[in-house]
Amino acid sequence: MAADMVGASRPPQNVVLVGAGHAHVEVLRSFAESPPPDVSLTLITRSRYTPYSGMLPGLIAGNYRLEETRIDTRPLAVAAGARFLQSEAVGLDLESCSVMCRDAAAVPYDIVSLDIGSTPTIGGIPGAADHAIPVKPIDGFLDRFEALRHRVMRRSAGSHIVVVGGGAAGVELALSMQRRLSVEMAAAGLQSGVQFTLVSASAAILTTFPARFQRKFERVLGERGIAIVTDARVTEVRPGHIQIEGHPGLSADEVVWATEAAAPEWLGATALELDPRGFIAIDPTLRAVGNHNVFAVGDVAAFLPRKLPKSGVYAVRQGPVLAQNIRRLVAGEELRHYSPQQDALYIVSTGERHAIATRNGLVVEGDWVWTFKNWLDRRWMRRYQRYSAPEPSMPVL
Ligand SMILES: Cc1cc2nc3c(=O)[nH]c(=O)nc-3n(C[C@H](O)[C@H](O)[C@H](O)COP(=O)(O)OP(=O)(O)OC[C@H]3O[C@@H](n4cnc5c(N)ncnc54)[C@H](O)[C@@H]3O)c2cc1C
Repeated sequence: MAADMVGASRPPQNVVLVGAGHAHVEVLRSFAESPPPDVSLTLITRSRYTPYSGMLPGLIAGNYRLEETRIDTRPLAVAAGARFLQSEAVGLDLESCSVMCRDAAAVPYDIVSLDIGSTPTIGGIPGAADHAIPVKPIDGFLDRFEALRHRVMRRSAGSHIVVVGGGAAGVELALSMQRRLSVEMAAAGLQSGVQFTLVSASAAILTTFPARFQRKFERVLGERGIAIVTDARVTEVRPGHIQIEGHPGLSADEVVWATEAAAPEWLGATALELDPRGFIAIDPTLRAVGNHNVFAVGDVAAFLPRKLPKSGVYAVRQGPVLAQNIRRLVAGEELRHYSPQQDALYIVSTGERHAIATRNGLVVEGDWVWTFKNWLDRRWMRRYQRYSAPEPSMPVL
């Protein structure tokens, strides 16, 4: 054996995580707890703070403080021994194995994983990009909501808010915004009030859920004075007005866009195989089809063995499998298969400390359901928030 081979070790592999979504925070946690040998890790994320989608409506409703609902990914990355790069990935070159970033040098990789979420399906509707407020990407929604809140509080004649999208996100957001704004307007002595309409392109709201679940939410929306317009495809958004196919137009001071998610556009310029809607096609090992060193998870991925809902629970469950598969790929071992659960538990709050849940056709409702959801959400968040330094205490005056 040549002398210079004695004690030689393999060069570390560059593992690059793009996006700090629900699955990547678990990879970081796993690597922080048990650092893999021979890995040089980088996290590229557009936002330092990752909002937890499960608690976002509660934050909007005023049931949580901001710090309770988001993960500071910088200390988590530091604990995992990762280089932290706050930037937006705008391209992926599979030939040279590098991630192109906005305002930063390209980042080379041996293994890359994408967990960058989805964007709103706003394109193609005239005026929507300029006059509607998209819920996605969720890392920017809070700022957009704060701006809306200030406008509503200033409007002396009251406001009509139209939420477009009759899925779980649209329903939960409408109820959460309504709760927050009506409480704040009453506290400020503003009589004019705020009126909400939920617009759904389908014949009903919450169409992917059991009928009992739908009916319960129809009842809650009715009790809270939120009008529902179904079979209503929005065709144009103008300042103060939306146009709906087959319906009279609606006046709208604010239009919040919570329709089905779309894929980030720049993926179309990569050589990745995409599904018909532009999401990255992945195999059971969570790798991009035809690429041994590219993983994709969460909303941005289209799991080929079975169509999965664009729902945070799937991203969460993919996290541990992804962490293991990155370790295995680095070690040259066979990768594990991810097998998604058949039916997920959905708990949707009513904007108050009250929620309705469904799984396997069963539907339950109550304050206790919210308490259970709160316990689950806080337990999940503790796994990642414990890497953050405690907030500085308030100065004693
Ligand atoms: C109001 C609302 C409530 C919801 N409630 C629930 C719920 O209760 N349960 C549930 O299961 N699902 C819920 N969802 C769905 C859930 O939000 C998504 O399915 C989930 O966030 C997807 O997780 P993800 O990891 O794919 O991406 P995300 O959580 O969207 O994270 C993507 C990350 O990537 C970063 N990023 C994005 N693009 C780039 C880029 N180009 N370069 C670098 N970084 C980038 C972002 O900053 C972010 O950190 C809700 C959605 C909404 C809108």
